[in-house]
Amino acid sequence: MSVRWRLTAWYSGILFITLLIFSVAVYGFVHLYTYDELKSKIVQQSNKIKPILTISEDGSLAYVTPDRSSKQRMEESDIYVQIYTYHNQLTWKSDNMRLRGLEFEMPTPSKASKDIGFKKVSVGGYPFFMYQDFVTTQNTNEIVGWLQVGVYTGTAENTLNRLRSILIMGSLATLIIASTLGLFLARKSMKPIQKVADAANQIQKGTDLSVRIEYDGPQDEIGRLIGTFNGMMARTEGFYKELEDAYAAQRRFVSDASHELRTPLTTIRGNVDLLHKIWTGSPSERPDLDEETLRQMSVEAVGDISDEAKRMSRLVSDMLSLARADTGQTFEKEPVALQPLIEEVARRAKFLPKTAEWHVGDLRSLNGVYVVGNRDYLQQMLFIFIENGFKYTPEGEVRLDVILYKGQIGIRFSDTGIGMDKDEIPHIFERFYRADQSRGVTEGTGLGLSIAKWIIDVHNGSVEVVTKRGEGSTFIVWLPIIFAPPLE
Ligand code: ADP
Repeated sequence: MSVRWRLTAWYSGILFITLLIFSVAVYGFVHLYTYDELKSKIVQQSNKIKPILTISEDGSLAYVTPDRSSKQRMEESDIYVQIYTYHNQLTWKSDNMRLRGLEFEMPTPSKASKDIGFKKVSVGGYPFFMYQDFVTTQNTNEIVGWLQVGVYTGTAENTLNRLRSILIMGSLATLIIASTLGLFLARKSMKPIQKVADAANQIQKGTDLSVRIEYDGPQDEIGRLIGTFNGMMARTEGFYKELEDAYAAQRRFVSDASHELRTPLTTIRGNVDLLHKIWTGSPSERPDLDEETLRQMSVEAVGDISDEAKRMSRLVSDMLSLARADTGQTFEKEPVALQPLIEEVARRAKFLPKTAEWHVGDLRSLNGVYVVGNRDYLQQMLFIFIENGFKYTPEGEVRLDVILYKGQIGIRFSDTGIGMDKDEIPHIFERFYRADQSRGVTEGTGLGLSIAKWIIDVHNGSVEVVTKRGEGSTFIVWLPIIFAPPLE
């Protein structure tokens, strides 16, 4: 059973019980009140009648002579009186009874004592409410007759019947109208929930996470539910997208990595095969060359193998760094004095292979400036930019200087090298990305800047690039600084 039917059933059930209690109470009250009125009327009347009964002097003969005025009152108040005297077995009836030819049923003398009191009877098809009792002599209390005082209840019964019909019909009509309206309202208020269910179902069946529920109603419980649902969907979509991107990046990384590793391995295998043929193969397989040339070829092959092995180990260690970065691993950080660190890097950079000139700006402004970071990783990051500067500047100069600006240190690497096109800039921090110009011309794996970016991110820094094809490039690494190491 759907919620809206259940709601309607509950609502109608409660309304039905309420109406029932209300109707029974109203009917019961009116019924009680009406019959109480009749009772007091009858009691009043019978009290008046008893004294007007005349008992003969010997006490055995009793007959009824109601005086004119009391008789009048009886007729007027619609009271019907019937008295039976036991000794002469006569029945006296009030005029209105006689006129209408009515007669109350007499109980047998043996049962009479049980019948004393009020009772609803039907006489000649008319409903009466009747009181009956023995008539006794005033002095000796001897039973001489049987008094029956009745009142016609047709009108009251009609009114009560009409009231009952009104209550039943009214309650039924109220119940039907209220249930129909209740069902309509339940359906209306359940409609947005139905929308949520439909949307959830659509998502469960398909893969479309962009589904949102349109709702422009008030921000009540349902409005909030829809808001929460839409918010949840937006987050899920975001997570899913991130996950998809991460998965795609991972796949690209694996395929690029295997591609990059295959090249040195092929070179190594080719050279090893050549060496094998020269030194252990049968004389027929051996190249027909003199000993000196063979020795020269072997030395070159070993040199190639060594170069490729170095390239491979560099590649593997770069990939390990990035794999570590991917698992969310960070490194220990502590306040690091920048001046000695950069001076040391600048000094060691002099010994790197290069064709350009190396200039270092004034580093004195770094005195007393610290960054919270890791010395080794910071050094690695600085070398990546310097080596790139040397690699991509065949002639001209590579320069390192620093800028202090708004609580940050900018470490600037500028060169007058080959530069880059604008559209390459968004990709240079991607893994294995090498600009077309660099591919095959310079040594490199395309991982350096990705590692540098990761190190900068872990240090809460940022990097800026300004470059122009053929004119050179400038990279500025911004890091937040502190001016003195915190006290231990
Ligand atoms: P790699 O230098 O090993 O190729 P990187 O990730 O360090 O890899 O750099 C990615 C690419 O960005 C390089 O291949 C190169 O095309 C470009 N690049 C980086 N630094 C410079 C620079 N100083 N001048 C010109 N191009 C550069």
